[in-house]
Amino acid sequence: MARLACLPCRKAHTRCDGFDPCVRCVNRNQIHICSYLNRKKREPVPSEPENPGDSKLVAELFEGTLDMDLFVSSVIEDLSN
Ligand SMILES: [Zn+2]
Ligand SMILES: [Zn+2]
Repeated sequence: MARLACLPCRKAHTRCDGFDPCVRCVNRNQIHICSYLNRKKREPVPSEPENPGDSKLVAELFEGTLDMDLFVSSVIEDLSN
């Protein structure tokens, strides 16, 4: 059974009681270097799957292209005048 050991204890291949700071580091007056890597970190969220809100936005954009065509043609009319 692998027990959680602090970094100094791991380097020294010493038994560690797993406290924070552990007894060995306290006895050696090294509580400032007593740290653990095994603590679970919050993993960064991987790229999220497509948002339903986004696809709704895209749909609205596609609907908007009809108006966009009118807008563009009107601008072209203005330019040709
Ligand atoms: Zn230790
Ligand atoms: Zn320690």
